[in-house]
Amino acid sequence: MAGFKAVTTEDSKMTANNLIDGKAQAAILREQIAKDVQNLNSQGIQPGLSVILVGEDPASQVYVGNKIKACESTGITSFEHKLPADTTEQAIIALIKNLNNDPSVHGILLQLPLPGDLDADNILPHIAPEKDVDGLHPMNVGKLVAELDGAMAPCTPQGSLHLIHSVQQDLTGLHAVVIGRSLLFGKPMAQLLLQANCTVTTCHSRTKNIEDICKQADILVAAVGRPKMVKADWVKDGAIIIDVGINRQENGKLCGDVDFDAVAPKAKAITPVPGGVGPMTIACLLQNTVKAARIQNR
Ligand code: NAP
Repeated sequence: MAGFKAVTTEDSKMTANNLIDGKAQAAILREQIAKDVQNLNSQGIQPGLSVILVGEDPASQVYVGNKIKACESTGITSFEHKLPADTTEQAIIALIKNLNNDPSVHGILLQLPLPGDLDADNILPHIAPEKDVDGLHPMNVGKLVAELDGAMAPCTPQGSLHLIHSVQQDLTGLHAVVIGRSLLFGKPMAQLLLQANCTVTTCHSRTKNIEDICKQADILVAAVGRPKMVKADWVKDGAIIIDVGINRQENGKLCGDVDFDAVAPKAKAITPVPGGVGPMTIACLLQNTVKAARIQNR
C-alpha cells in the first residue's frame, strides 16, 4: 500500500509496518502542486501566498518558516508580514484589506494563535473568502457544510482525509469517530468524512462512554491535545487511526493523542507523531493557494 512504510520516529519505540508516512505522502502531493503551479505559470498566473505573523512566539516562527520554505519548493511566491506583538486589531485588518486588493496575493494566512488580547474572531472575517486558504472565514465554513463549489476547507482535516484515502479509497458506510469539535479541525473533519459517505460520530469533552463509542470506529481520528489519551482498549482490531494531537512530553519529545505503542499492533494503519498529519497540513495549504489562484483567475 502506497501510504505504508516502516518508520522510526522521534520516539525510538515508534516503529511499525502499518505506519502511514505523512512525510512521504506530503512529498507526493507537493510534486503534484509544483506541476499545477507550472501549469498556471504557462497561463500567465503566478500563485502567491501572504503569511501574517504577529509577535515572536517561537513555535509560530518555526511554522511560518516551514510554510515559506514549502512555498519555495513548489514555485509559489510567498510574502511574509511580520508585525510586533503590540499591533492593534485595526492595523492587522488594514493590512488584510490591502492584501485583499493585491492581485499578486491569492492566499492570506493569519498565523494563530495571536498574542495578548488580539481576537482572531474579530480579524478573520476581514480576509476575502476567496483568499481564505485556512478555510476559517464564516463564508467558507458555510460553503463546506453546504458542499458548494469553491469551498476552502481547513488544511489539517483535508490532509487527514488524504492520509485515510492513502490506505483505503472507498470509505462508504464506514463508521468514523472524530474526537474533538473545534472549528479548526473537529467540525470540518466530520464534514469531510460525511461527504466521503462515512457514518460520523463526533466526541468531545462532555461525551459519555467515549471508550465504547471509539471502539465502534472503523476510522478513529483524535484531535484533543491530551497526550496518549486513546488507549488500546478504545480501539477495534483493524481500525484506521489518525492522530492529530501534538503534545510536548516531559522528556521534551513530541507525542500524539493516541497511545501509539499500545494501539499500533491493533490498527490496520496509524499515523505517527511527528511525521503523520503535520506534514500534510502544509502541503494542503499550498494546494488551497493553487486552488485560490485558479478561482481568482476564472
Ligand atoms: P481545541 O480547539 O483545543 O479542541 C480540542 C477538542 O478536544 C475540543 O473539542 C474538546 O471538547 C475536546 N476535548 C478536550 N478534552 C477532551 C476529553 N477529555 N475527551 C474528549 N474530548 C475532549 O484543539 P484543536 O485546535 O482542535 O487541536 C487539537 C489537537 O490537534 C492539538 O493537540 C493541536 O496541537 C493539534 N493540531 C495539530 C495540527 C497539525 O497540523 N498536526 C493542526 C491543528 C491542531 P470541547 O469542545 O467540549 O471543549
